[in-house]
Amino acid sequence: MKLTAKILIGLALGAVVGLILHFFAPDLFDTLDAYVFSPLGTIFLNLIKMLVVPIVFFSITLGVASLGDPKKLGRIGTKTVAFFLVTTTIAISIAIGLAYLFEPGNSGIDTSGAEYESQQAPSVVETFTGIIPTNPIQAMAEGNMLQIIAFSIFIGFALTMLGKKVDGVTKVIEQGNEIMMFLVNLIMRFAPYGAFGLLASAIGQMGLDGAKAMAAYMLVVLLALFIHAFVVYGGAVSLIGKMNPIRFFKGFFPAATVGFSTSSSSSTLPISMKTAQENLGVPKSISGFVQPLGATINMDGTAIMQGVATIFIAQVYGSDLAFSQLIMVVVTAVLASIGTAGVPGVGLIMLAMVLNQVQLPVEGIALIIGIDRLLDMTRTAINITGDAACAVVVTETEKKHGLPEEPVETDISHVS
Ligand code: ASP
Repeated sequence: MKLTAKILIGLALGAVVGLILHFFAPDLFDTLDAYVFSPLGTIFLNLIKMLVVPIVFFSITLGVASLGDPKKLGRIGTKTVAFFLVTTTIAISIAIGLAYLFEPGNSGIDTSGAEYESQQAPSVVETFTGIIPTNPIQAMAEGNMLQIIAFSIFIGFALTMLGKKVDGVTKVIEQGNEIMMFLVNLIMRFAPYGAFGLLASAIGQMGLDGAKAMAAYMLVVLLALFIHAFVVYGGAVSLIGKMNPIRFFKGFFPAATVGFSTSSSSSTLPISMKTAQENLGVPKSISGFVQPLGATINMDGTAIMQGVATIFIAQVYGSDLAFSQLIMVVVTAVLASIGTAGVPGVGLIMLAMVLNQVQLPVEGIALIIGIDRLLDMTRTAINITGDAACAVVVTETEKKHGLPEEPVETDISHVS
């Protein structure tokens, strides 16, 4: 059986088992969760997280080194960031438009018990000045993605400039990358069990709590995610990327299911890269540059949640947002999604920044926190799909300049 099918079965079984235990045997759920579900999920998460730092380092270094001249790097970098910014802005606009259309917050929601203590979100300036690591080893030890990316770009650049003199190091990094990709394949065999554990644990804990009361909000977020994926990504991939959107979505689906079960763009990165390289024909150098960057700063799904949530909270608390405030929401949500780390739940913390900006009550977050786990899964799948769409688009537009290397044509049976 194909791996994707196995992961889907794992997800579905996890959801069913979690729900049944939640309603009929909560005590048994607690025991099973402690000894089976959570450990299964954690082992899977740890296995893939284990590869994230080395993969980001090896692949970005190699990506930059194999792009050759700095002009090419500048061109690809500009295209990538432009794609991220444009798609994220469209994402929030779709979200705000749908939230106004369906008014999910105008159905008499009770705010009396809503309390939320906002956590300190890093400021935008802090995020930017913190990009250059004063100690790269510490950056790696702490898994600080932006800093690792910056350091890897410097090393890749040096490798290019020094050329033959540092052939040995380049080889080591190339082989290191091979080893990591091999391990990704190995670990993916465990994905169905990990997906089962993660879902059973999450659904078993929350059941359908809050889903009914918040159904309108949830549906608007899901609709916006759906439209964004199929219209914006589908359109970009077919019009600019010259790829059949069906091939794109089908090819990337295995990675999306892992993003769904882990709720973490960063953790899924090894699998997203492997899938884009092998199923979508994205050259390693482009995938190695675009996808780690995207997993760190490009979060369209998160921006959608933040857009709908802001309007939802404004409606619940009966405050009208002026047009200038809406523009403010778009701008801060773009920044907030850039600043959102690719780990579970951070999008909701960053929402506080958007709400503060337009003087909406941060307590409103308490209303949506209960169902955020489920939405987090879905938006993470969209977040990483956006990175892959960008990689496909950049690949196509780079063809006229000559691609740095041929796409890898390997046996893809294990990821399809
Ligand atoms: N979980 C999301 C991700 O990793 C971030 C978020 O929206 O919380 O992509």
